[in-house]
Amino acid sequence: MPEKRCDPRDLISPPWRTCPACGKDKFGVSIISGSRLMRRCRDCWHQQDYRLPELRKKIIYLDQFVISNLMKLENPATKGHATVAADPFWRELHDLLFQLRHLQMICCPDSGSHEEESRTSPFNAELKKTYEALSGGITFEAFDSIKSKQIGELALAWAEHREPAFDFDPRSILSSDPNEWNERFYIVFGDNPFVSAARLRQVRTELHTNMARLFRDVWGKEKHSFEYWYELERRGFQRHLLKATVRHKQERAEAVLSYKPGEEPPLEGLDKILPSFPEGVIASIEQSRSSRRMGE
Ligand SMILES: [Zn+2]
Repeated sequence: MPEKRCDPRDLISPPWRTCPACGKDKFGVSIISGSRLMRRCRDCWHQQDYRLPELRKKIIYLDQFVISNLMKLENPATKGHATVAADPFWRELHDLLFQLRHLQMICCPDSGSHEEESRTSPFNAELKKTYEALSGGITFEAFDSIKSKQIGELALAWAEHREPAFDFDPRSILSSDPNEWNERFYIVFGDNPFVSAARLRQVRTELHTNMARLFRDVWGKEKHSFEYWYELERRGFQRHLLKATVRHKQERAEAVLSYKPGEEPPLEGLDKILPSFPEGVIASIEQSRSSRRMGE
């Protein structure tokens, strides 16, 4: 096996300044973290910390449509490459986004949506590379968990007869503080083993079939007011949440009982063990009910 050696000195990079300890012009940038910069001498190892100005980046969410076109622009093997490359808008947007990101002025977090929408594409690796190059590995919390928190707050506000108050602090829903200075490198992981392309395709097909059926057999035939449909959806959603919660709890118990002692549970079974979205919503509402009881 070929040997690979890593010299910590390789992690010190220009611009070089004169080292205050040894006088050599080898005092470079070592670590950038938060609002701190550490310079280190490649020769005598002298180190010194410096404060960097506080940043306030704009957070821009890029839809998959944008990610997909930026990826096509860079990859001539893709079907839409010629069309995207012929439109100067995409080159301009690409250069502007990367320039602003390198100037530490914007943060374009990636999300579960980017991940799921890319996974079924034959260009998943290229798409992943594109959205991660723009996010620098800063990721949104799962949309479902943001949604259940907001439903919890709505329930609590309703119980307390007040207006709901949402916390729009980006730090609470991103994997790390977007206003920190970017390092010169970022670390990302390979494909999430819990996201399966086959399963995604199956869910999409089912969703499409159900939506098409609704359009054809229900909305196309029955004419009712907005309020009628709203009320129907609301009650249907309630019933679905409760039923799904009961079903998921039962499935969890069955999955746990099916494991033999000392045997590692299979990865595919893990989504049965982890709480589902309906369970999260119900838990979030129950929590707001119990905190109201405590406050009474
Ligand atoms: Zn030195």
